[in-house]
Amino acid sequence: MIKTNDATSEQADHLFFDGVDLQLLAQRIPTPFHAYSTTAIRQRIGGLQAAMSGLDATICYAVKANPNLAILQLMANAGVGADIVSVGELRRSLHAGMPPERIVFSGVGKSADEIAGALTVGIHRFNVESHDELLTLQQLARTQGVTARAAVRINPDVDAHTHAKISTGKSENKFGVSIDEARQWFAERSLLSHVQLDGLHVHIGSQILTLEPFRLALQRVAAFRHELEQAGHPVNSIDVGGGLGVCYRAGEDHPVAAADYVAVIREALAGYHGRLLLEPGRYLVAEAGVLLTRVIRVKPGIERQFLVLDAAMNDLQRPSLYDAWHDIVPVSDEPRPLTTYDIVGPVCETGDTFARNRAMPECMAGDLLLIKATGAYGASMASTYNSRPLAPEVLLNQGRYAVVRRRQHFEEMIAGEQPARHWETT
Ligand SMILES: *Cc1c(COP(=O)(O)O)cnc(C)c1O
Repeated sequence: MIKTNDATSEQADHLFFDGVDLQLLAQRIPTPFHAYSTTAIRQRIGGLQAAMSGLDATICYAVKANPNLAILQLMANAGVGADIVSVGELRRSLHAGMPPERIVFSGVGKSADEIAGALTVGIHRFNVESHDELLTLQQLARTQGVTARAAVRINPDVDAHTHAKISTGKSENKFGVSIDEARQWFAERSLLSHVQLDGLHVHIGSQILTLEPFRLALQRVAAFRHELEQAGHPVNSIDVGGGLGVCYRAGEDHPVAAADYVAVIREALAGYHGRLLLEPGRYLVAEAGVLLTRVIRVKPGIERQFLVLDAAMNDLQRPSLYDAWHDIVPVSDEPRPLTTYDIVGPVCETGDTFARNRAMPECMAGDLLLIKATGAYGASMASTYNSRPLAPEVLLNQGRYAVVRRRQHFEEMIAGEQPARHWETT
């Protein structure tokens, strides 16, 4: 078992997070807001780095999980790089002080402008997902007079046994190319004057809670690497992707430990002595985050009671998008009778539901609640739907806190919008 909440274990009553009194914090900062534990993130990074000791391996944090500049800075300072999927993420990473030589670029839809921009700053490597992209990379690198390092993203046709919307490594998914196609790319490698195609990349999905899918995918990658080396194509980099799962539901989700995960990598890639890249996102930040929210009102219904919160699907989309479970607990140590609620937000969508028929201590208006494990794909997926401003993000660190994103102002929300005054023709 991994200890996920060391930062709070001495105060396991949900009153404190990373040593910060959450009731007092919510008096300073109006809810809803996201809070992240520096200590918990550092523990995850440290644990993974320790498991990788002796390997030539770099963690490239998947920025999309949580792209807040303060989080990226924390990653950069811990020696972690970035896995980006857009030029916006590239700019954030550079802005946070991430060295370009620790940045890799993934994604099926990199535009020519994005590729050119990443070439200009000299990122470490492109994880290429289609032949068209490979040719575009070659052409743009030639124009700039540089050589791009590239890896083929292999679609290993492995079932990650995760939610369909976060499964990426089956042949029906849009990601990567088949091993047959990749073989062809390497065979024609010498035609690429400005691309050094010497890497393999695989990422089979997210929130994976067993080792088997990783092992299967890596075994396929290892066999293919062997075949390539035999054919005279050196493989200098293997990027094993991300996907390590976390605990969203206490007692039900049993994530694999970093050491066991890395042991599978070591075993599957035994005999490979090149560079390793790991791209965890969720694993590093999910359990380090909570969403603080207050009960607006308890609304009795005919069949069920609704607990209406001031947080909504625009602040945390995962329950509406993936039917994801998040543990929700009151920030209180009062003993209260248990009841059941449908826990919902104020947004005008039936999908704006955090939990159905959830057993909870009885709540009343004004109560402070904690929605747990929201550090990944929480704030990063937020929107202003229903014209709700983006919520603040607060970094906690051993009893202290720093606001790392203040609540969006109304003026910022509407900036860029204007009445249709100047009608033009094309
Ligand atoms: C999303 C993504 C990741 C991170 O996934 P997690 O499940 O958050 O670890 C890593 N690599 C690629 C290519 C991705 O698209």
